[in-house]
Amino acid sequence: MERMLSRAVWFAPLLIVLIASGCKDDPASPSIPQTEKGAWARYTPFDWTHDGRPHESTYFTIYSDAASDEMKWQLGDIADERFVRILRLFDFENVSDFVYPPGYSKMEIYINRHHAEGINWAYWGGFIFTIRSPDISGRRYDSAVYIVRHESTHVFEFLIEGRESLGTDVWFREGIATHVGCLESTALRTIRSLSELESWISQNQNIPGEGNPIRIHQHADFPDGADRHEYYRLFELAVRYILDDKGMGNSYQDVLRLFYDLRDGLSFSVSFENHFGIGVSDLEEEVFGRLRAYLSSNAVPARATD
Ligand SMILES: [Zn+2]
Repeated sequence: MERMLSRAVWFAPLLIVLIASGCKDDPASPSIPQTEKGAWARYTPFDWTHDGRPHESTYFTIYSDAASDEMKWQLGDIADERFVRILRLFDFENVSDFVYPPGYSKMEIYINRHHAEGINWAYWGGFIFTIRSPDISGRRYDSAVYIVRHESTHVFEFLIEGRESLGTDVWFREGIATHVGCLESTALRTIRSLSELESWISQNQNIPGEGNPIRIHQHADFPDGADRHEYYRLFELAVRYILDDKGMGNSYQDVLRLFYDLRDGLSFSVSFENHFGIGVSDLEEEVFGRLRAYLSSNAVPARATD
């Protein structure tokens, strides 16, 4: 009896709460979209809202304008798995040393479904990923793995450097991100033969910069009308050469040390020379000769794995 009474006393306020929340759930009035925005609104030009239903994976909060819950879960799984592998690649375990933007302790991904800008864009603390297809399957999966690894490598660099703009030269930052993306995906075809390199050099010999990838220090250095996709393949080749034992034989740890130098205020060119044993301007001068020699001795190298 006493037990029944206490249950009734406990149940009464609960009933009131249920009735009150039932009023809010009136199906006739659509739910009001959440207008709170993520770091993308601060660190990119895209002032986008989301649907108010973010998904929490281990390392990421996944927002979207209109992705299904299933797509958010799937991308969260892909991103978690790939991010762990990137940490392993750099032999990095100390995630508490990441410097997040103010107010953040986790990375974020924004799945862009319907905004006109078809962009993939990394920023301090996360990245935007445009997915137009209804699901991530087949070749789309391979492509998603590439983009997640490419953009997550940028985010990794952001979290080590701990600031709004990366301090690396464009050729290096895009080279390492493209290289890490290509280690586990065939979505972007890498340059594997000397004839491909020779063809690039002859096509660009009369264009400002002569197609030299190391000359692209800043975005403004791309020649007018440059095919950036092709430049990214050259950046990848340059970074692969820097890291490969059959090239300059440097390590991912050297890259990590460079990122930390930038956190500490050193310039890219000073840190690069300290860790990679050659000045950026010397590499710029010698790059085609070095890449020719590298590809000549590595006709069809086995696909690298991490
Ligand atoms: Zn990139």
